[in-house]
Amino acid sequence: MSLKDALHSEFTAPPELRKLGSGWVAGVLAFTLSLVSLALVLVLRQPHLLGVPQLTEARDTLYFRIVLYIILVLAFLLSCICLVLRKSKALGALAVTITLLASLWSSMPSAPDLASGANIYFGLDFFILNVIFGGILFVPLERLFPQVREQRVFRTEWREDLFYYFISSMLVQIISFITLAPSGFLLNAIKLEGLRLWISQLPFVVQLLAIMLLTDLVQYWVHRAFHRIPFLWKFHSVHHSAQTMDWLAGSRMHFLEILILRAATATPAFTLGFSEAAIQVYLLIVYVYASFIHSNTNWKLGWMEQYLVTPRFHHWHHGIDREAIDVNFAIHFPWLDRLFGTYHMPKGQWPTGYGITTPVPRGYWRQFLYPFRRDAK
Ligand SMILES: [Zn+2]
Ligand SMILES: [Zn+2]
Repeated sequence: MSLKDALHSEFTAPPELRKLGSGWVAGVLAFTLSLVSLALVLVLRQPHLLGVPQLTEARDTLYFRIVLYIILVLAFLLSCICLVLRKSKALGALAVTITLLASLWSSMPSAPDLASGANIYFGLDFFILNVIFGGILFVPLERLFPQVREQRVFRTEWREDLFYYFISSMLVQIISFITLAPSGFLLNAIKLEGLRLWISQLPFVVQLLAIMLLTDLVQYWVHRAFHRIPFLWKFHSVHHSAQTMDWLAGSRMHFLEILILRAATATPAFTLGFSEAAIQVYLLIVYVYASFIHSNTNWKLGWMEQYLVTPRFHHWHHGIDREAIDVNFAIHFPWLDRLFGTYHMPKGQWPTGYGITTPVPRGYWRQFLYPFRRDAK
């Protein structure tokens, strides 16, 4: 059966194949929204093709982008629901393809954007690139050098963690916006021109190391506060509820914690005048590094282990063992833990398991609400 025939039989499906729960409604909605999103992206990218000058004005408003963004997300989610529920994959596959194309097209920088340095991208592309990139990099690594040999790629709760990955990728723009707010405020409030100029002229490698050191120092204390202050621990316990460690496990983090942690750690880098290149390279490093230290790999870096955080170091932070409580807070430099008395690396050993003893509910939304519940410990 050709795609055309398959689609025809989907649209003319008998009522018993259309009932709620069959995925038909989701499929038709997804297909419609995918076409709408494609039309909106057309307006965004090629407004002159339509010859309606008012559209150009409309597309320059923030609302236009927000609406487009919401439609893209909805079309994508509904396509997924349809693909899961429905036996015939034609409708869902077509809707998801159109949505992805619209999303990719919307994200390609145009000539004026490139010239002005503005970069418009939507979270969906980011999510897909993330998963492809992360998967290509870490799945083979975890197969070749596993710490827990019997652990499978699709281990328990992988869907939950993938959903965390999805949400933070989708909301990357909102997260970045809120994250940059404190440094924007500081830049307005205090004059740092001299210092900023001096820092921006330092050699690239020095800037990069300085960013790593400053962010890790801030990260260390914020992280430690999340462990020690009971109210904050409710949020952070979500991250520690992971019972298996792999490249995806680190993405399990309460949304509020993401905002606080990123805003705090981004502030020195963005306030002190580091060059954009150094910040970009740092973001790339921290992004891959966060997956790496959670990954199920048994790499030993020899003498380097004293200076750089390895999977074993961060696995101890997630350890279920008594000795693993409140140790190894650093993300880049383990000697910060040595300095502040929280270092724990028994020679050659790994924790016996991962997680915490307090029961955290399963699933994204229940974990989202968990810290706000009165009975949460
Ligand atoms: Zn922690
Ligand atoms: Zn972690």
